[in-house]
Amino acid sequence: MQQTLNAEKNTAAANIDGVMQNALYAFNQYKKFSSAKRAAFLETIADEIEKLREQLVPLASEETNLPLARLNGEISRTTGQLTMFAALIKEGSWVEASIDTADANRTPPKPDIRKMLVPVGPVVVFGASNFPFAFSTAGGDTASVLASGSSVVIKAHPAHPETSALVFSAMQKAIAKTGIPQHTVQHVTDTSNDAGKALVIHPHTKGVGFTGSFAGGKALVEYARQREIPIPVFAEMGSINPVVFYPDTLSKNAEALAAQYAASITLGVGQFCTNPGLLLGIKSKGFDNFLSALGKEITKVQPQKMLHSGICFSYKNGLSEMLEQQGLQVVAQSSTDANDNEAVALVASVDAKAFLSNKHFTEEVFGPYSLAIICDDAAQLKQCLQSLNGQLTSGIMATEKDVADYTDVIEWQHTLAGRILLNNAPTGVEVCASMVHGGPYPATTDARFTSVGTTAIKRWVRPIALQNFFDAMLPDELKNDNPLGILRLIDNVYTRDAVRKA
Ligand code: NAP
Repeated sequence: MQQTLNAEKNTAAANIDGVMQNALYAFNQYKKFSSAKRAAFLETIADEIEKLREQLVPLASEETNLPLARLNGEISRTTGQLTMFAALIKEGSWVEASIDTADANRTPPKPDIRKMLVPVGPVVVFGASNFPFAFSTAGGDTASVLASGSSVVIKAHPAHPETSALVFSAMQKAIAKTGIPQHTVQHVTDTSNDAGKALVIHPHTKGVGFTGSFAGGKALVEYARQREIPIPVFAEMGSINPVVFYPDTLSKNAEALAAQYAASITLGVGQFCTNPGLLLGIKSKGFDNFLSALGKEITKVQPQKMLHSGICFSYKNGLSEMLEQQGLQVVAQSSTDANDNEAVALVASVDAKAFLSNKHFTEEVFGPYSLAIICDDAAQLKQCLQSLNGQLTSGIMATEKDVADYTDVIEWQHTLAGRILLNNAPTGVEVCASMVHGGPYPATTDARFTSVGTTAIKRWVRPIALQNFFDAMLPDELKNDNPLGILRLIDNVYTRDAVRKA
């Protein structure tokens, strides 16, 4: 038996070695392609996915139980991400070109130094189960890698293999149409932890992108640490996304807030990393009214099928463990008549003292569940926030009066997460230049980066300085004449002008 297991491990490693050799070969060609050519490639992938929309949507729905409308929207988001990165690299200024011109009269003479961002090399992307398009084969991680000029190896998520394969076929068509090196994009469909490990530890791998569980993300970080040459693993893991409901807004808007949050908690059967899992407030009539209205809304929600049986099993287990914790009270649940793979939405509450004495309350229960924390006063509310680990989002539901009355607590909320929201629900992540979808550990492994929006590209690049190069040796981004017309920092001044000759 042990021999069979070892043989399987060796096969996975041998296959992965071939994949990574191809990825490096492709990278060394692809990195020389102009931004215009890389952009055309991304746009062609988007076109080819669009052509398959009618096939992709029902297929993904069958594999993930997600509704057709949501999947249609997710395809649009995915093609939008691809064209967004194409536009970014066509414009070109993202490379952060900076030029410090020489000064021969200085003592000692100052050399000419020019800097820009360059791609790191082959990147491994792990597809996510909860976004079969937008965070899977041709999702945001992949789009940002390809835009940067690196090749990508995608570890397809085992929960939607046919969807991933069909999306990959669209990418292969785009490769053929645009003359991109064949192995610039590769797809690994081996559903074993060994294949994932072999990808992370392979010496040609220069970076890893991941969205999923804390255990999965942590395992990949550990593999990376075992390497002779370490690499970054950008893992987006669990988050319970605390939202504070301040007293003045609760006294005026309890019912509207309850409707807004019932929708957010149960959106996509709660299978969003930005799901609001913790609702904090100070004991008051307003908070009571909010919780009772929230309960009424939650009871109306029909049980719905989760992404796959494993996730549903984890949800049910996580929920029953949570319900065993001392001090927890069920506020409301949708229905107890759920079929296989269906999740019952549930909101519970606990007083702050019990919350503060039991770390288990801060565990993520991935699904349509949220816990309300009832605090005695602002000091206890702040204490609860201080007890939390890093988060993707931190929500402030407040009027201007609340903002003035609770400055100190709100300031603390800023330290918790990558995105701080005022009077919005955290679900729904806009894809744009200013978005931060990241946050302090354990929400992600590196709070300096985002996995959504144009700056997600910064995960796959490194700066390089070129000293005293002849103009002809320089990449277009750094040439004197600025042939690409990009914004550059020349002698500490931002400009699109050419470098002035001395
Ligand atoms: P997951 O178990 O973390 O798996 C995601 C990917 O990572 C899969 O491709 C899996 O590969 C790989 N992987 C996991 N552990 C690994 C290990 N030890 N070594 C190598 N590869 C490993 O996530 P999931 O399947 O999507 O869902 C499971 C749970 O993750 C959910 O119940 C939920 O709690 C959480 N989740 C969180 C988010 C979020 O955004 N925070 C999103 C989705 C899921 P193989 O299985 O193919 O080996």
